[in-house]
Amino acid sequence: MDFKRFIQNHLNTGVVQSNNPETNQQIFIANLFSFIGYTVTFLMGVSACIRHDWLLGSVLLIACAAFFTSHLILRSKRFENPYKVSANLVTSSLMILMLYLVFTGGVNGTGPLWIYIVPPVALFFGGMRKGTRNLGIFVLVISALMFYPNNEWLGTVYTFEFKSRLIYSFLTVSCLFALYEYVRKNSFQRIKEMSQKFEKQAMCDPLSGLLNRRGMREKLQNEFDRSQRYKNDLTLMMCDIDHFKVVNDKYGHDKGDEVIKSLGLNLQAGLRKQDSLARWGGEEYLFLLPETNGEHAMQLAEKLRKKVADTQFKQNDKLFRVTISIGIHQIATTDTINQAITKADTNLYKAKEQGRNRCIID
Ligand code: GH3
Ligand code: MG
Ligand code: MG
Repeated sequence: MDFKRFIQNHLNTGVVQSNNPETNQQIFIANLFSFIGYTVTFLMGVSACIRHDWLLGSVLLIACAAFFTSHLILRSKRFENPYKVSANLVTSSLMILMLYLVFTGGVNGTGPLWIYIVPPVALFFGGMRKGTRNLGIFVLVISALMFYPNNEWLGTVYTFEFKSRLIYSFLTVSCLFALYEYVRKNSFQRIKEMSQKFEKQAMCDPLSGLLNRRGMREKLQNEFDRSQRYKNDLTLMMCDIDHFKVVNDKYGHDKGDEVIKSLGLNLQAGLRKQDSLARWGGEEYLFLLPETNGEHAMQLAEKLRKKVADTQFKQNDKLFRVTISIGIHQIATTDTINQAITKADTNLYKAKEQGRNRCIID
């Protein structure tokens, strides 16, 4: 059980909650590659030393150290992008080790069999463009080593058939992995776009296009935390259309919907970029005004109230207007979010009680 946890921690080194899921997945796989890399090279290095093949043993143990270093880099806070440094180290160490195995032939000429590990690693870490470029360079170098006249650039001898089939099969495997990487990247991109679209839909009210309660709750939490941290002013305004039942009864539910939508856009048009507006309920809107004190919010509320009262709606040649009431509350340091909303709501209730078409602040 403890061993399982150790492996899990080991493979999740460098994974941070605040990263996006794709980055964390890449870091996890970088750990996995380096783990497999240093385990395999360590075992093979020791085995080579036992056979008294000191040179191969040393090279494998140096590669093992490089793979382990790439894991340590993921732990380090010294690099701006540890994943990138680690991925480059894994890829380049692997390629150098493979060149060495091709050059010497490894154990009884079996060294080149390992080169098929290069395409997935190079493409995963480098992506399509950099990965294929690195693979292209790798193929050119091993071709030059193997086909230089009289085997002068090789420490061993391969038959022509072996060398040519090695290159053909390596190119085939590389193309298949490149295709796979291309499809994987495209699917990932499509899923990401779809999930962003759904996320946005989940935060928005379909009728007005404004934020819905869920979207506003998220903004409220962020702005609330920010205002507590930096001691900034933050004000809420709860707004409700007066006697809206009458609009529905007189002009129909569809017209009512139209009023809710166009009034929402009208209110939104009067706000600054950092302000947020949500459709909080049926004909109820909630304003979130960062860096705004109660006094300034009151000025804004009055401006919006007058603007709405001056706007005309039309139904079958009949013109009509609606009014709004607004309850304002500047958030105090002792408020919770729910308390602040309740206070704005209480002020809205007072505005209704005092005759509607007015703004009340506490
Ligand atoms: P007041 O707020 O001034 O006290 O009066 P009101 O008539 O607006 O009050 P109330 O909150 O009792 O009624 C709100 C009405 O809004 C009731 C409901 O039929 C209507 N409503 C709520 N959501 C929608 C909607 O999505 N579309 C339409 N057309 N009407 C809605
Ligand atoms: Mg109402
Ligand atoms: Mg209402």
